[in-house]
Amino acid sequence: MLSCAVAEDSVRLVVFLGAPGSGKGTQAKRLAISNPKIVHFSTGDSLREAIKKATLLGIEAKAYVERGQLVPDGTMIRLIESELEALKQVDTVVLDGFPRTVAQAEALEQSPTTRVTKVYYFKLSHSILVERLSGRRLCSNCSEPYHVQFFPPKVAGQCDKCGGKLIQRNDDKGDVIETRLAVYESQTATLLEYYGQSNRLITIDASRTPETIHDELARWLM
Ligand code: AMP
Repeated sequence: MLSCAVAEDSVRLVVFLGAPGSGKGTQAKRLAISNPKIVHFSTGDSLREAIKKATLLGIEAKAYVERGQLVPDGTMIRLIESELEALKQVDTVVLDGFPRTVAQAEALEQSPTTRVTKVYYFKLSHSILVERLSGRRLCSNCSEPYHVQFFPPKVAGQCDKCGGKLIQRNDDKGDVIETRLAVYESQTATLLEYYGQSNRLITIDASRTPETIHDELARWLM
């Protein structure tokens, strides 16, 4: 467990909350590129990397990630604790994919070196989420995101930026998409109430263009 009492110079944490496919990762990456004071941390990326390297964390997380289920809270809290320890000199960390349960949110609240200042909720309808997730492709080399219909690469199957091969995440396929959305509704959506109670929640209309959303977030996070 992370321990109590918040220090004056604590790291500012900004949480991006929303269902899978709502655009949190895309926006967090853009913000980190456009503002050197901002670091993006994605628990999903971190777990995928651990699975690829077959570390102890990866071996433990693999089956949960493949099924679209949440990795147990204890494991995720230990992961975030060690990541935030390494980022303690940073001004602002955008958390993409954490917290996903009330237990994870409570662990963050107890950290002495960080404080959650704002939570941006990426609001999007179920049908658009399914459409976005099922058409999503990622560069296997640099992770640049594409969409087969809404944002295709110039050359089919190939990343515009580095020429890497585009792949579809296994959990962006078939039934796993529905499982992930159901898990979001049953375990994560309750965080809207949790953060709403402390006046830190800002709702973002995630159906707009990535450029419009980026401009709005960049203004908020100046
Ligand atoms: P994401 O890339 O954020 O959609 O995460 C991919 C998968 O990683 C999720 O479906 C979960 O299996 C796992 N995961 C990521 N973040 C968390 C978290 N905070 N708690 C539990 N599982 C997580």
